[in-house]
Amino acid sequence: MTYPRPIWPRVTDEDIAAVQAALLMSRSDPRYLTSAAGGGPVAEFEARLAQFFGVRHAMATSSGAAALHIAIMAAGVEAGDEVIVSPYTWGQTVSCILQQNAIPVFADIDPHTYNLNPRAIEERLSPYTKAIVVVHLYGHPADMDPILTIARRHNLFVIEDCAQATGALYKGRPVGTLGHFGCFSIGDGKQIIGGEGGFLLTNDDRLYERAVAFGQHPARQWAEIQDPDLRRDIDALIYTYRIHPLAAVIGHSQLRWLDQWNAERRRNHERLSAGLTGIPGIRPVFVAEGCQHVYHQYSPSFVPEEVPGISRETYVAALAAEGVPISLGYVRTPIHLRPRMRERRYVFGRGYPWRAGFREIVYQPGDCPQAEARCALYELSIGAGPAWLGDQTPLIAQILDAFQKVAENLEALRQYERAQAAG
Ligand SMILES: *Cc1c(COP(=O)(O)O)cnc(C)c1O
Repeated sequence: MTYPRPIWPRVTDEDIAAVQAALLMSRSDPRYLTSAAGGGPVAEFEARLAQFFGVRHAMATSSGAAALHIAIMAAGVEAGDEVIVSPYTWGQTVSCILQQNAIPVFADIDPHTYNLNPRAIEERLSPYTKAIVVVHLYGHPADMDPILTIARRHNLFVIEDCAQATGALYKGRPVGTLGHFGCFSIGDGKQIIGGEGGFLLTNDDRLYERAVAFGQHPARQWAEIQDPDLRRDIDALIYTYRIHPLAAVIGHSQLRWLDQWNAERRRNHERLSAGLTGIPGIRPVFVAEGCQHVYHQYSPSFVPEEVPGISRETYVAALAAEGVPISLGYVRTPIHLRPRMRERRYVFGRGYPWRAGFREIVYQPGDCPQAEARCALYELSIGAGPAWLGDQTPLIAQILDAFQKVAENLEALRQYERAQAAG
């Protein structure tokens, strides 16, 4: 391949002008550079987010992980409570649970969308279940309607991890507005960038006050919290999770492009999917009915039965040798099988959070067969996700040429495998 790979993040002229204007403003209004109490550009970003997503409250945070931790705390998840979550995700979908000394309980994924399977959630419910953290992995919405039904029936909180899915739609509604909290990232590699940063959304006034109470500076808490019990605890014994005002300025500036950029990402990745259709050994990314994908990652599946005698490793190596940006996938090891989960070691030491649990939870192979099979046999990643803006037809054509070349040389790959096996 010769076509240059697109660079992400993209910094627009408007972003540069907005940052310059903010720094100039900071000479008379320090909130443009440092803003413990919120207000200024942070409040402007939050107001715009709330309007854009059509929710009552938005709170900007220092990262997506911070937004998730705040949401777990604000939901009232307590030490030892069980929280149902997917094992097929980025670790921070799960670490927010551990950080609250709560117990992650893993439910299996749907093999097509790679997101939580509602039936698997039902199998994992216990009297100790308090919440569900739902990730919209790679930018594809999870099947929220049945998940919300389960949550309502069992009085559970639903926290959406939208860090990879800003702007994705489920049945016409933006992800992150469906559960109690939506948590987003504007950090490295996400749909829009603030440099680093994140935000959370909620329609619930009381939950919003609690979010402020756990993640914001007392100066902002005094201004925004009305609940007398929460006001009694304004004492700075909490986390500093506020956003950098310049990150808010950049994120705000980029928000105007979100829908257009996501539409471009969709067009390019749909073109890739169309071209991959029918190529032996690979199944293009699936998009469920009623879902709009925003392609944080393009993760198709290897189909071993279509290329007998060729391993996933060899197939990927052949494409990589042609210059295709392809890897053996993103998750690699499901979270429940990672060493510190299996060995029940976390940063607190002394066996916490598991020691805080109400019943014994162990993690072992077989807990989540679909997630385990995907990691071991099927997952692939192609391309650069959010970077595919504009018209990437020439780049995609070269990727498809490489797939075609591999498809025409399967026998050579089989011989290579046999030679490897013979040592
Ligand atoms: C990036 C990401 C996060 C964390 O966001 P940061 O802003 O990097 O803290 C959480 N969950 C998922 C699924 C992510 O991709």
